[in-house]
Amino acid sequence: MFADLHLHTFFSDGTFSPEEVVAHGKRMGFAALALTDHDTVEGCERMAAACSAEHIEFIPGSELTAEFGDHELHILGYHFDTKHPRLLSEMAKFQAVRQQRIRDMVTRINELGVPLDVNSVFELANCRAPGRPHVARALVKAGQCTSLDEAFERFLKRHRPAWVPKAKMSALEAITLIHEAGGLAVMAHPGLNKCDEVIPELVKAGLDGIECYHTKHSTNTAAHYLNITKQYGLLVTGGSDCHGMSKGKPLIGGIKLPIHYVHKMQKAREKRAAMP
Ligand code: AMP
Ligand code: FE
Ligand code: FE
Ligand code: ZN
Repeated sequence: MFADLHLHTFFSDGTFSPEEVVAHGKRMGFAALALTDHDTVEGCERMAAACSAEHIEFIPGSELTAEFGDHELHILGYHFDTKHPRLLSEMAKFQAVRQQRIRDMVTRINELGVPLDVNSVFELANCRAPGRPHVARALVKAGQCTSLDEAFERFLKRHRPAWVPKAKMSALEAITLIHEAGGLAVMAHPGLNKCDEVIPELVKAGLDGIECYHTKHSTNTAAHYLNITKQYGLLVTGGSDCHGMSKGKPLIGGIKLPIHYVHKMQKAREKRAAMP
């Protein structure tokens, strides 16, 4: 029995509906799935219903964009109350930041002499938490780039000419917010962020776990973070980070997290809930 605890839908920058994600999960034989769209929980209700129809355990979640010093970090929240007022109001703030950033990036692209209508990006994104992949897809659709990779390389990667920094919540605030909403806070794909030195601070702030298994982690990277979870007594999580068809082939199925880790998360959540 396996789980995938890192999945995106078209409520952020994935291409699948929640129902399509669940259909793929079912086909791969998953016993549990979590939805972790960027800075939103909008897809959770539909995904919960689709999982329930297929007798798959559903874990509500989100991937919060956060920062610690100069580092961008992604903090995964799991098992929280998806209707928690402050969680929703904080997410709304960062969704507005994302929307303004799309306008700023398109202005930069236009200033570089490349025509692109900002409304075409918003229409294509059709969600509250748009991101750079939507700008990349709109550039390809408009015939200005031949691939998403080209769009990122020419314009959108950090420090490329149309890249705009994003205001983010601090990682410590993200952890506190997730706890306030009754959830567990997990550091996403640390192998991509390469800032292990921040882990002790995050642990002090109450970090519950580390995403040791991820599509872009090698076996050695996973083993390295498993050791760190042992050192600090943290939960172990994992997921594919599937964004649907945006990478050619869906990544779901690439990471199969043994279900006992999911059971440990449930125990940790109950323990947190019992804390004063
Ligand atoms: P944003 O949240 O707007 O900063 O966009 C980040 C998202 O862009 C990530 O979650 C990835 O899905 C995607 N991304 C980042 N780099 C690339 C790349 N080189 N090619 C395609 N997608 C990328
Ligand atoms: Fe993404
Ligand atoms: Fe991420
Ligand atoms: Zn992700």
